[in-house]
Formats: sequence, C-alpha cells, structure tokens
Amino acid sequence: MKEFDYIIIGGGCAGLSLAYELENNDKLINKTLAIIEPREDYKRDKTWSFWKVFSHSFDDCIKKSWNTFSINTATETKYVDCQSTPYQTIDSGLFYEKILSKLKSNKNIIFFKSIDQIDKSNSIVFNSVPSFENKQSELWQHFYGVEIETRKDFFDEGIFNLMDFNCDQRDRVHFFYTLPFTKKTALVETTWISELNNDSLNDYEEQIDDYLCNHLNLRQCKIHFKEQGAIPLFRQKNLNKLNEINIGSAGGMTRLSTGYTFLNIQEQSRYIRKNLENIKNVNLYKINSKYDFLDKILLRVLKNNPNDMGDIFFKVFNSKPKTAINFLSNKSSFFEDLAIISKMPKWKFLKELI
Ligand SMILES: Cc1cc2nc3c(=O)[nH]c(=O)nc-3n(C[C@H](O)[C@H](O)[C@H](O)COP(=O)(O)OP(=O)(O)OC[C@H]3O[C@@H](n4cnc5c(N)ncnc54)[C@H](O)[C@@H]3O)c2cc1C
Repeated sequence: MKEFDYIIIGGGCAGLSLAYELENNDKLINKTLAIIEPREDYKRDKTWSFWKVFSHSFDDCIKKSWNTFSINTATETKYVDCQSTPYQTIDSGLFYEKILSKLKSNKNIIFFKSIDQIDKSNSIVFNSVPSFENKQSELWQHFYGVEIETRKDFFDEGIFNLMDFNCDQRDRVHFFYTLPFTKKTALVETTWISELNNDSLNDYEEQIDDYLCNHLNLRQCKIHFKEQGAIPLFRQKNLNKLNEINIGSAGGMTRLSTGYTFLNIQEQSRYIRKNLENIKNVNLYKINSKYDFLDKILLRVLKNNPNDMGDIFFKVFNSKPKTAINFLSNKSSFFEDLAIISKMPKWKFLKELI
C-alpha cells in the first residue's frame, strides 16, 4: 500500500482549503499528500456566506457582496451598514473548480475514494469527516433554500435580509434568510434552530411556498438550485487523536450561535500551514473559548425561550454595526463583548448561567 507524508480525509470545504493553503505556500514541493474523497464529481452544492473580517484566498469565487443588510421581527425592521466588512457569498462550484485546478498541477497530490486504499500508519492525518450520529437531540441549525428567478425585476439587490423572524415559530426558533443576487434572482432559505429528532418542522417546501406567496407576494418564479443542510450547534467529542487532527466542522470550526464556519476554516488552514513542521507538538487551533462559553449560554436561553430569540438577535444589532459583526465573526474585543452582553435580557441569561 502507498504511504504519504500527509493525508486529508474528506475533500470538502476544510479538506480542500487546507490542501490549497499548503500547495499555494509551497509546502508540498517535496512532500506527498493523499486526499480521501468519496464523491464522484464536484458541483455547486453549497453557498457559503460571511462578513469579510479579514482577507482570504477566494475573492475570485465570490458570487455577490453586500454593504447593507436588514433584520426584522414582526414589529420592527433594522437596516445595518457593513461597508467596512462586506457580506460575501461564495459559490462552492467556483471554489471547488479553483482549488482542483491548482492541485492538479502537483503530481505529489493524489485523490483516493477510500482510506482503505492507503497506509496511514506513518502519515500526519487531517480528518474533516464528522461523527455526529445519534446526536439528533442536540441543537442544530437546519435549513432549506431555493435560488429563484422572477420574470420581472423584484429584488433590491443592494440589501440582503439576514433574518426575518416575522414567520411561524412553532415554539422553536425560525427565520427566513434572503440573498438577492440580482433584481431577478435570489436565494431564499427557511432556517430553524432546533433538535433534529422530530420531523414536524421538515415541511420546508411548504414553508418556502408560503413565504414567497404570502409574505413576499411573489406568485411566479423558476427554481434553479436547491440547498438543504444541518449544521451542528455543539462540539464533537474527542477532537484529539494520536496522529490525527480534526479540521473543519469536525474540528470545532463552527461558531455555535450562528453556524458560521467558512472563515474559521480558512484561519485553521493558515495555522496548520504555519505550524506544519511541528504540528504534532503545537496546540490545536480553536475558536476562542470565550465564544463557546457565551454561545452555550445563548443556546440555553434559546432552548428555553424560543419565542424571544427574534428580539434577542435584533438587540445584538442595537450595538454599533462593527461591534455586532466583530462579535458574530469571533473578532470582538473585551469592550465589544461587554457592549453586546449589555444589550441582552439580563435575568434570562443569568438564570441560564447559574
Ligand atoms: C448547505 C450548507 C450551507 C452552509 N452555509 C454556510 C455559510 O453560509 N457560511 C458558513 O460560514 N458556513 C456555512 N455552512 C457550514 C460550513 O461552512 C460547511 O458545512 C462546510 O462545508 C464545512 O466544511 P467541512 O470540510 O467541515 O465539511 P464538508 O464541506 O461537508 O466536507 C466533508 C467532506 O467529507 C467527505 N466525506 C464524507 N464521508 C467521508 C468518508 N467516509 N471518507 C472520506 N470523505 C468523506 C464529504 O463528501 C465531503 O466532501 C453551511 C453548511 C451547509 C451544510
């Protein structure tokens, strides 16, 4: 069986980001890398969005960028300026294409369908395949979205809607998310934060139809793309294994309160690249533990007070836009954390803390 210096298990967002980071920084000139990925072909399967709080390598895969967004409850709407940290959407199809064409040029990088095809005993292994089985009773962010095209101009493509809580909550947390790419096209998603152990929330298509028809007043449109997913809002246990480093969602790169993961994956890839020669001895890259602490309290509040969450998320944006965005993107200072905490309903949070 073949041996490799490095093995990446799972050639998705984290696996390919790491491979690109290593290849792009000449770390694979005299080293071999195996990427284990069972999928037959790469097509657009996800839309990754985030506030650009630092520069990354994928500006050329951006589908659209916005400088303003809205958030609304049943009674209030807020418009937020994010010009200094624009909200970007990456087309996963362009991302895969860019990385795969770069990796193709290095003969030291080989793709395999299964780990059984290689000997991993002497390799450094980066694993992005999560093991979240039997975790349906934990909290997840689960969603279903459609990219639609209207006949006439319909959307204001300059403003995306981050969260529209003016919808059926069913004693869980529910909002719609709309990314208008042009005046005629947009991604509209129904998003829930809940356990996954009952399927009463899974009538996603009806939720979307109802929202388009009765909320947006949009009667006719074509659907070009569908996206469905579930992001775990909890950590996988045993991130540490001998000779194996977990990366991506499996490596704790998801922000628990929001599900944002893409930029954390980029930071994790940079950290691994910088410390590659000594990777077994350095600390694992982690999201700052203050965010896990605060997010876990927020998720407990959310579990016990689902109907208040619209107001709570709305209040996050009562702070300065930069403060709120830094907080949600794990880049906030101590004073920015305090500014966010001061906007929260104190008794509910204290109760969950205690
Ligand atoms: C639909 C969707 C939309 C999202 N949108 C956003 C967003 O807007 N912003 C954001 O920040 N985050 C978003 N996320 C969260 C996160 O960024 C993504 O889940 C991201 O793809 C995580 O990267 P990953 O490499 O950890 O997992 P993945 O990208 O899922 O990669 C895992 C890879 O492992 C492969 N694999 C599976 N089983 C095996 C096996 N046994 N052996 C080898 N390989 C295997 C899979 O085929 C896959 O390619 C989204 C998640 C989903 C599901």
